[in-house]
Amino acid sequence: MEILITNDDGIYSEGIYALATSLRKMGNITVVAPDTQRSAVGHAITIADPLRVVTANRNGKFFGYAASGTPADCVKLGIKSIMKKRPDLVVSGINLGGNQGYNILYSGTVSGATEGALLGIPSLAISLDTFTKPDFSAAAAFSVKLAGMVKKRRLPPGTLLNVNLPNLPAARIKGVRVTNQSRTSFNDWFDKRRDPHGNTYYWMTGDFKPKDADRASDLNALRGGYVSVTPIQFDLTDYKFVPELENWELKL
Ligand code: MN
Repeated sequence: MEILITNDDGIYSEGIYALATSLRKMGNITVVAPDTQRSAVGHAITIADPLRVVTANRNGKFFGYAASGTPADCVKLGIKSIMKKRPDLVVSGINLGGNQGYNILYSGTVSGATEGALLGIPSLAISLDTFTKPDFSAAAAFSVKLAGMVKKRRLPPGTLLNVNLPNLPAARIKGVRVTNQSRTSFNDWFDKRRDPHGNTYYWMTGDFKPKDADRASDLNALRGGYVSVTPIQFDLTDYKFVPELENWELKL
């Protein structure tokens, strides 16, 4: 099995190292990841600048390719230029921070996997629901299991799996739930500050304390101590509204 690994926290983050170390059991891995922190870049790609790629070592050994682009850039570059064989699987993560609800739209982690799916390759996005004291062990082990399942059971074309895990050791996680995307997002606001020259600047910050009555949602699986696995797709058409919009009889 040929596996392409990327993330949005950067190639030197702890989460991608745990993921790569674990996925080595499943086959040949190739890591192509951003050279710096690229969280919340969404599905951006780089078109006005060249992409610089250098090899990255970790613990004194070759680890992968660090690119001056976004997660979507890294997946394109990995598949179309760096890998000799087309991958059987793309895995993005393990992200520091959950990617549930509308956060999926901003997430570079999910977009790395979405790019894989757009290119016709089964893809997984793996996120850990914490920003502090991460324990990546359960997420790394579950990624291996899921890679095996995807190989055996297949994913429909255009569908990827968005996986979120609570920050707990495997023994304390209650199980795995298949979920739907919740209608939740960060409550963000801007810190208004002043720089040393007296100019105003703004820094986005926020908290994530949403409530969601939908028991089948990604948010509630995580809150209940379960792993959340959501099948997602990138056709954004609102099919239910199409007939009504046709009734508008739009004309030039
Ligand atoms: Mn991130």
